[in-house]
Amino acid sequence: MTERIRKFLKRRREEGPCLVVDLEVIRENYLAFAKTLPDTRVFYAVKANPAPEILKLLVELGSSFDTASPAEIEMVLAAGATADRISFGNTIKKERDIARAYELGVRLFAVDSGVEVEKIARAAPGSKVFCRILCDGTGAEWPLSRKFGCAPEMASGILEQAHRLGLVTHGISFHVGSQQNDVKAWDKALASAAAIFNEVSERGLTLSMVNLGGGFPARYLKNVPKVDAYGKSIFRALRKHFGNRIPETIIEPGRGLVGDAGIIEAEVVLISKKSADDPVRWVYLDIGKFGGLAETIDESIRYPIRTPRDGSKLAPCVIAGPTCDSVDVLYEKEPYMLPVSLEIGDKVLIEAAGAYTTTYSSVAFNGFPPLKSYVI
Ligand SMILES: *Cc1c(COP(=O)(O)O)cnc(C)c1O
Repeated sequence: MTERIRKFLKRRREEGPCLVVDLEVIRENYLAFAKTLPDTRVFYAVKANPAPEILKLLVELGSSFDTASPAEIEMVLAAGATADRISFGNTIKKERDIARAYELGVRLFAVDSGVEVEKIARAAPGSKVFCRILCDGTGAEWPLSRKFGCAPEMASGILEQAHRLGLVTHGISFHVGSQQNDVKAWDKALASAAAIFNEVSERGLTLSMVNLGGGFPARYLKNVPKVDAYGKSIFRALRKHFGNRIPETIIEPGRGLVGDAGIIEAEVVLISKKSADDPVRWVYLDIGKFGGLAETIDESIRYPIRTPRDGSKLAPCVIAGPTCDSVDVLYEKEPYMLPVSLEIGDKVLIEAAGAYTTTYSSVAFNGFPPLKSYVI
């Protein structure tokens, strides 16, 4: 936790769980990306955390933005970015949303199918398109496999169709899976991308851009490689597959930019046992899957949780949220070690919670308000 967050939480009076995000950490993270991949443009994945203060800082730092809806595009414009710094990166778009984006000035769109190309040709004529290819997500703790992207063999046909319909064939994109722990995960996708570049050029078209997606990790319980290691590995793979004709590249970090900049303060509501000799206690917090911790689905993301009693003896606990839904359990398959001395009313800190929390929190399930957020 940063000193600034510590001071902020000390002064806080309101009740209920809240996220506090330190902009200084985001600034450092941004600069680390810019330093390690100096020739690569950063398109921040807005869905990770669209707080206006974060968008504003990133606009000032020179970032571009990956968006998924007209509402996200409008948030980025409101933060001061021009439309040429915005990509509509969702491959699943309503035609009227494409038209709206076009009206707002956006000219860069993702596709992974021929019918999406047709929509863009109609609603955003002359725009640049890049084709997203499938990635299996191996090595990622939050894989994005199957739903997005086409088989690499389909890409050149889709791009050729785009060209026929008057669009600019711009490049290839992929996402190696979120919270990707393997710095080499980009290699295979870059091999496919290079093959598509060749195939497309044999058909008389040119591509100029590779979108390397997100996947850069935040530090949860386990250590993760530094941004620098990712940068080196990606650059090596680019050299290997593109030789001295390295294309323009962009990255779309979400988690890697904002994840470790935020901390959630929550409260212990109840500690109980299901039977007298149950070795595992149930610890209920005032935040759960519906309050912003949706990435605990399948216990995928394991947040570091600090308590005021750290240092005393630990015992295994099931951790659950406060709502009346039985899926609102955070960690059960693999119980979480928490101090035996933990008490009802204790405040706990959930670390590295800056990404995918406020956006995942429900509006008022069981009457619990959405996760409060402070950006400092
Ligand atoms: C969600 C998303 C990202 C961000 O992924 P992270 O793993 O959080 O960096 C990047 N690009 C696209 C297209 C996305 O959908």
